[in-house]
Amino acid sequence: MASSPAAVFARISDKRTPTAGPVLMKTAVVLGGSVAGLLAARVLADHADEVIVVERDDPGTSTRPRPGVPHGAQAHVLLPAGLAQLERFFPGFADEGVAAGGRLAPASHRHTFSDGVLKVPGRADAVMLCGSRPFLEALIRKRTLALPNVRALTARVTGLEFAPDAVSGVRYESDGAKSVLKADFVVDATGRASRLGDWLEKAGWDKPALTRVEIDLNYATAIARRTPNQPGIEVGLATYSPGSVTEGVAAGAFCSIEDERWMVLLSGYVADKPGRTPEDLVRLCKASMPEDFGAIVTAGIDSLATYHLADARRRNFHDLARVPARLVALGDSVASMNPIYAQGMTSAALQASALSEFLRAKPSLDVPAREFFALQKVVVDAPWDVATGADLSLPHVRGPRPSGYAVKNWASKQVVAASVRDSEINRRFESVIFLLEHPSILATPGTLLRSLRVNRRARRG
Ligand SMILES: Cc1cc2nc3c(=O)[nH]c(=O)nc-3n(C[C@H](O)[C@H](O)[C@H](O)COP(=O)(O)OP(=O)(O)OC[C@H]3O[C@@H](n4cnc5c(N)ncnc54)[C@H](O)[C@@H]3O)c2cc1C
Repeated sequence: MASSPAAVFARISDKRTPTAGPVLMKTAVVLGGSVAGLLAARVLADHADEVIVVERDDPGTSTRPRPGVPHGAQAHVLLPAGLAQLERFFPGFADEGVAAGGRLAPASHRHTFSDGVLKVPGRADAVMLCGSRPFLEALIRKRTLALPNVRALTARVTGLEFAPDAVSGVRYESDGAKSVLKADFVVDATGRASRLGDWLEKAGWDKPALTRVEIDLNYATAIARRTPNQPGIEVGLATYSPGSVTEGVAAGAFCSIEDERWMVLLSGYVADKPGRTPEDLVRLCKASMPEDFGAIVTAGIDSLATYHLADARRRNFHDLARVPARLVALGDSVASMNPIYAQGMTSAALQASALSEFLRAKPSLDVPAREFFALQKVVVDAPWDVATGADLSLPHVRGPRPSGYAVKNWASKQVVAASVRDSEINRRFESVIFLLEHPSILATPGTLLRSLRVNRRARRG
């Protein structure tokens, strides 16, 4: 089987619904019932007699933000690769989303601006599904919990039980009572604040090292009402390079969501906190952003929520020398990137696909899941390298620079600049940014030479 990262990435991006089985375990337990946990449960349902999702919130069928996901009120975009994976694991997912009030955003319904300039079209076949994050999560929850062998348990996980070399159970508290669930396989999907490393260390195992890229990001997301005569597009994104930032806005985005509304986001770094009051957000959308943004907020805004994110963070499970068998981690618990690239849910979906490939190969569950961690590394490296590569070029950002960073950063700036004007380069760029293809397609001599030519022509006017 081909094993270059690009080949592994292509395999894991498969769009065919996997056939169920083989059944490898009696009880699988998933810690955390958000996007990553629910997708892990969907995959495990093919390979376990029963799957139990332990989540401290009881969201029911609500499509409102909930305490366990404090970023739930912020604008979220589901990238095309994420939608493709959801469609794969839940056939009919997009239609169901639209029937429930979500909106599809094909290429013709998206506008992307770079330093105020509208970019040429890119990946013509790429479609996004728009809705608020709780709405998208509720769609995934409904389909996952409809599976006959998956059930939810409302409880707070407090730790793990270990047999000599493997995880054997999950400790939890519910209504003040402490209990243990026996488990043949455990997936940690408790998000970026996961305590799995502490639990492992306390029990004498290795704790995964935490890599941090300090981005110091400020978000403000408002809800606006849809009115007639607004732009006939569903998604808008505007990014500004450091020299072009005005009034502190490093990026802005809007997307249509359920119930005839828009989500409008402004973001800045460090001391720049644009749009923290409704008046400021509306003013900035009208005065400092591309025209579409002003049109979205014409009817005013209904609510506004702010959020601060100190860092992008990654836990390297693939590096661990001593890790128990029957345990993996998935989603933000492993990697949580700068959200402006909108990769988190899609990364979780691709990691779930990696779990599916791992389990379909009938692995021995009595040894650490190293084949899974290796597959997961490939699908996490892709969004992580793209996002942190761009973050580290910002003057305020601190974090470990990968080897050869200066050259890679120069080359990627050429591609980004060319993607504004050249449809072929933008097609390749969007393929990577949307996580449809491996980033190596942007590092070919052909892509770089074409980008250099496009940029030279642009400089000559
Ligand atoms: C501001 C912001 C904007 C974002 N925008 C986008 C975007 O546009 N597109 C995109 O794809 N992604 C975006 N993301 C990322 C996205 O939200 C996550 O990647 C995605 O939700 C997957 O997260 P997760 O399921 O791994 O973790 P989370 O969503 O954080 O869920 C963790 C779950 O675990 C539960 N939990 C935690 N501890 C325990 C415990 N001890 N016991 C029981 N349950 C527990 C929590 O209640 C929660 O339900 C954004 C993130 C942020 C912060």
